[in-house]
Amino acid sequence: MHPYEEEPSAGHPPPVIVPRAEHPISRADISPNALKVLYRLKDAGYQGFLVGGAVRDLLLGLHPKDFDIATDAHPEQVRKLFRNCRLIGRRFHLAHVRFGMDIIEVATFRAAHTEVDEDHGVDEAEHRVLDVHGRILRDNLYGSIEEDVWRRDFTANALYYNIADYSVWDYVGGVPDARARVLRLIGDPETRYREDPVRMLRAARFAAKLDFTLHPDTEAPLARLAYMLDSVPPARLFDETAKLLLAGHAASSFGLLRRFELLPHLMPDVATAIAEAPESPGARLLRLGLEGTDQRVRDDRPVTPTFLFAVLLWPAILRAAGAPDGPLPADPQLLLTATDEVLSRQLRRITIPKRFGLPMRDLVMLQPRFERRSGRRALRLLEHPKFRAAYDLLLLRAASGEIDPGIAEWWTQLQTLPEAERVAEVEGQPAEAAESPRRRPRRRRRRRPAAD
Ligand code: ATP
Ligand code: MG
Repeated sequence: MHPYEEEPSAGHPPPVIVPRAEHPISRADISPNALKVLYRLKDAGYQGFLVGGAVRDLLLGLHPKDFDIATDAHPEQVRKLFRNCRLIGRRFHLAHVRFGMDIIEVATFRAAHTEVDEDHGVDEAEHRVLDVHGRILRDNLYGSIEEDVWRRDFTANALYYNIADYSVWDYVGGVPDARARVLRLIGDPETRYREDPVRMLRAARFAAKLDFTLHPDTEAPLARLAYMLDSVPPARLFDETAKLLLAGHAASSFGLLRRFELLPHLMPDVATAIAEAPESPGARLLRLGLEGTDQRVRDDRPVTPTFLFAVLLWPAILRAAGAPDGPLPADPQLLLTATDEVLSRQLRRITIPKRFGLPMRDLVMLQPRFERRSGRRALRLLEHPKFRAAYDLLLLRAASGEIDPGIAEWWTQLQTLPEAERVAEVEGQPAEAAESPRRRPRRRRRRRPAAD
């Protein structure tokens, strides 16, 4: 072991140890697989702690979505304990213990800050390498629990549940903060945001998810440092945005992104569009869409980045199409240009993978087809593989006041009719209904939208 490895911890105070009798965390609420891993570590003579979000959530009476474990056993040692274990990460930092579909992540205590991009590689000889902005480029070096604590982000995320006696170890005041529902960065907030600007998004995420208030010192630097999001790799921003907005707290998270002035650095076009016209149908659609997403999560229905980004980008698309107050122009060429302009600008910030971005574009391009209510084309739209999502977007456009709610009602009705009556219904529609209520250029190019 490195002779100085224990040194940095020497100055830190000992933890407050909250005994089992004084906290509500019960083994009955911990996943049996996580317990198995913890006990196996303990029986082999290692330390085994449940860490991070799971301890926090259990303390708050919530159901953790996963159970992460930290130990003083090195990854190789962890692997030897479990048949069903795989080391992952470029330099095998983490152990995954698999139980069927369930994976328990076991991390060895680390000396310094974590959240390294594994793809950048890690030189085991170096503790930590920072770039000129103070961001972490690389770090690695196993350490003790005393060191592991300080690399974590918020006090409530830095609690350790000890399998040896079921106590909670708190080095940073996380228990009182969690009880007071305060989100507080460990250490100097500005330094911690500079090390990893994504912590700014995490602040919004946890505040929304846990209904916590940011400690004033944790909130104060946000607006000033928001620009640092510009240099976060767009692929990481996709992951973070998805976590932020698809976890059931999209509406409040989005509100916090605006309040903390992070939005202009994440979605500049959207920020501009809603700042210019906060009460426009586009801004309303965004709000309603996020609320609907949250409702779906509550109902255990699936949510997708495809629909999420359609909703998020809607005000920007309307604006780019020259109709900031709606309705969306029907001209497919204009629509495609506006959508692609907004999408490609957004992609510079957030890598929306093609498998979501392309169908998102289709959802937009299908919208004008809802205005055509007569004839076979209307029936064909019903059969379109993206009909359901496009119809959901149509409902939002109606609810936001962008379009005549009668259009959405008609499509809702049509779906309830038996097959034969549907034909009668579309054939009964006046021919004018086939055309968009807005005037179209007379010599429209015969080009099909990409979605066809
Ligand atoms: P969730 O319930 O949403 O998963 P979580 O707290 O478990 O919340 P994760 O992103 O799963 O969050 O991270 C697990 C733990 O790792 C966190 O609780 C925190 O201690 C630490 N951590 C994660 N990301 C960072 C980061 N960027 N900076 C510092 N610590 C981090
Ligand atoms: Mg987690």
